Amino acid sequence: MKKKGALIVVSGPSGVGKGTICKELLKDYDNVEISVSATTRSPRDGEVHGVNYFFTKKEDFEKSIENDDFLEYAKVYENYYGTPKEFVLNKINEGKNVLLEIDIQGALQVKEKYPEGVFVFILPPSLKELKDRIVKRGSETEESLKLRFSKAYEEICLMKEYDYYIMNDEVENAVERLESIIDSQSQKIDGNLEYLLNLYKEEI
Ligand code: 5GP
Repeated sequence: MKKKGALIVVSGPSGVGKGTICKELLKDYDNVEISVSATTRSPRDGEVHGVNYFFTKKEDFEKSIENDDFLEYAKVYENYYGTPKEFVLNKINEGKNVLLEIDIQGALQVKEKYPEGVFVFILPPSLKELKDRIVKRGSETEESLKLRFSKAYEEICLMKEYDYYIMNDEVENAVERLESIIDSQSQKIDGNLEYLLNLYKEEI
């Protein structure tokens, strides 16, 4: 019997910097693998198929929904995004920790299906800062910007469903906090009790 990996779900309002935190974490932290999501949105400049996302046609995405291929999926601002179930569950069973960087609707679905995961909510230092970041990113139209920002407070209230928060004041600090959450999650007894007891049972 193998020790199972942990599932770490990082989520929070759009523009809060969860993508940057995860990207920075992966640079020199090898205790976790990130799950690459499928999406129906078009690639942005520099984005690579299979690295940032699996860019997928809407019909194919809908077929995958029917086939129950996703651990969770959500429509985020007119586009579908989904987490491939097989990849995540295989990695966990191989003993690897898996990181999901997904929106809040998706995270809540994962919590229903996989409550032993750890759910981390990224908070902005203030709503003003969040708005500035979304504007700076520059990929939004006036309309989508308004929509994203008006949802932010509503979304922040949903942190009550999560285990940990990380306030993203400085990316470096946020990355350190996330690393320590992952480290402690992989030492949890819950989820690995059978594996741990088996280690000693064999010696009785
Ligand atoms: P973007 O289009 O800026 O890459 O992502 C938009 C939003 O979709 C972000 O909040 C991101 O976290 C979320 N997202 C990315 N992948 C997934 C996924 O597989 N499932 C869900 N539910 N949300 C995702």
